[in-house]
Amino acid sequence: MKLSVIIPCYNEEEVIHTSYQRFTDVMRTNSYDYELVMINDGSRDNTLNILTELAHKDKNVKVISFSRNFGHQNAVTAGLHNCTGDVAVIIDADLQDPPEVIPQMIETYVQEGSNVVYAVRNQRKGESLFKLLTAKMYYRTLNYLSDFSFPVDTGDFRLIDRQVINTFKKFPEKHKYLRGLFTWMGFKQTPFYYDRDERAAGKTKYSFGKMIKLASVGIFGFSKKPLKLAISLGSISMIFALGLVIWILYLQLFAVDKVVPGWSSTIITILFLGGIQLFTIGILGEYIGNIFDETKNRPEYIIQEKLNFDTDTPKKEK
Ligand code: UDP
Ligand code: MG
Repeated sequence: MKLSVIIPCYNEEEVIHTSYQRFTDVMRTNSYDYELVMINDGSRDNTLNILTELAHKDKNVKVISFSRNFGHQNAVTAGLHNCTGDVAVIIDADLQDPPEVIPQMIETYVQEGSNVVYAVRNQRKGESLFKLLTAKMYYRTLNYLSDFSFPVDTGDFRLIDRQVINTFKKFPEKHKYLRGLFTWMGFKQTPFYYDRDERAAGKTKYSFGKMIKLASVGIFGFSKKPLKLAISLGSISMIFALGLVIWILYLQLFAVDKVVPGWSSTIITILFLGGIQLFTIGILGEYIGNIFDETKNRPEYIIQEKLNFDTDTPKKEK
């Protein structure tokens, strides 16, 4: 059996040597073949140099280097498209997901005969309260919005077998929410519980903006409910307007002397309806933007360089 470890790296110069060492130590204690597929996602620091150096001294290190930063999900996608193992493990470079549990995941995979072993976080050390809270709320909202039930407290850390990798390779969509897609695919899936560590070094590479982007790819990729929100909001505002009409009629008929000049009710209605309209146009925009991106049919990532892949040997032109 051959194992591919998919490790996306973005500005990880501080942690990569340690990570390489820990991954290699774990791999060497086991008898199976392995490759460490390390994807340089357009890092602006020394990451690529370090990866190149590692690739030169260790043939098990395979490097894919992007022409710019395409984001974590695309880095993992490139790793899966190019890996050669019978099973693959997707894991972060920062050692938050301890590589030492990989053999246990493989054991679960063999014993249960499952296609996917997804890692569920018992505990998350060293994360801000804000991240913990928003993550919790997000996973629950996503589950409510989509017609589909996703396991909560699960990231991309998981083991998948060749059948799942090959199925994944046929997915043409550009905005990939990987943890959602793997659940959506079905097959036999088994949870695996573990404690999430702190980052070994460096700071998070998931800025607030990137977090929001990933969250919206998840929601707008797996749910049509936001589109229907327009109808609910419209109905609520209609009921509100109707109430207002009845109230005004009442005043006109029975309390003419108390009739207000009308400025406040007008302005409230305009603001209220205007808000709802902008909100729902925004939702439409998200979906249309997605359709736009899909129809452009551009590649999800551009590889500038590959190291230690067999396809490296240049083919002769005819
Ligand atoms: N990452 C990436 N491209 C990006 C952002 C992050 O490849 O644009 C990688 C990063 O190097 C790490 C993994 O994705 O291996 C998870 O990122 P990070 O640990 O910074 O996120 P957090 O754990 O804080 O959510
Ligand atoms: Mg991390």
